[in-house]
Amino acid sequence: MKGLLLLSGGLDSSLAGRIVLDMGVDLVALHLESPFGCDNNPERMAQELGIPLIRKPKGDRFIDVLREPEFGYGSVANPCIDCRILMFQLGQEVMDEVGATFLVTGEVAGQRPMSQKKETLFLIDREAGMEGKILRPLSARLLPETFPEQEGWVDRNRLFGWAGRSRKPQLELAKQFGFSFTPSPAGGCLLTDSNFKERLGDFIRIDQERPSEVAPLIRFGRHFRFGETWVIVGRDAQDNQTLEGLIRGRGMGFHPEGFTGPGVFFPEPCPPDMETIAFGAFHVFGKRVPEGPLPLRAIMGDSDYPVTFHDPQPESPYRNSVYWNAHWRH
Ligand code: SF4
Repeated sequence: MKGLLLLSGGLDSSLAGRIVLDMGVDLVALHLESPFGCDNNPERMAQELGIPLIRKPKGDRFIDVLREPEFGYGSVANPCIDCRILMFQLGQEVMDEVGATFLVTGEVAGQRPMSQKKETLFLIDREAGMEGKILRPLSARLLPETFPEQEGWVDRNRLFGWAGRSRKPQLELAKQFGFSFTPSPAGGCLLTDSNFKERLGDFIRIDQERPSEVAPLIRFGRHFRFGETWVIVGRDAQDNQTLEGLIRGRGMGFHPEGFTGPGVFFPEPCPPDMETIAFGAFHVFGKRVPEGPLPLRAIMGDSDYPVTFHDPQPESPYRNSVYWNAHWRH
């Protein structure tokens, strides 16, 4: 018998995996990648558990769910119920590929308000076509028996009946298991972070072209929207470097040459007045910016090349910091 572990790389899914492995079940781990990226490290935990890891993007199917979730959003832009349904459907596809017959998750009943209420767990299993196939070792004793328990592959008496948001039992169990490190709870989902609410709303509303490709840009820099034009300004050297890597193949970027200022990035589709906007951005956010034409390094695809941007009309609003602030999207 083989199970597929949905491994975020956080504490709960790691514990769920260890519990089932200790019963002699063969496990493969699956990490589903958010289009927005995340900071979890599933490789390290799969290595700790000694099981192979498959990574699979949630991709455009997730963006579709994000745009029109059948079961609505949580407190920010998080379509948790639809997201879980999709994750289980993607899990089923991988189960078929690797010959697994059930899915293992680290969910704890009642831990998250939207997707982990008991009745919601049943709904998600049903909608995903996975009834009886989802084993939740941390809360299993509170839930109906699943297929691997009925088959006797998994001993229900060695599973747990935890509910709620306390993390104490998880930390104690991690200690008992003697993990070489204690993974933190799974990294916060960007979609639940109210600091990103405006820019996520813009992304859902406006960015219809290649959405899952531009999605990773949302996490970095300061974001501005002028109508449909999207401009990202690096906040520090780290942002500039990350955005420079991400913008290649997804738009254009500009760095100052010979003066101090942030990177200025335009995800596709780049606007026709890009020169005017970038010139203004360097004056508003740069330091000791020279008057007259600005020497810059342009980034597009795999190429870097020098460009010179010229002073826009003096009445251009892009030279005005108040105008930028009014279009800042959190
Ligand atoms: S918190 Fe994020 S990743 Fe988790 S179920 Fe909700 S939308 Fe999906």
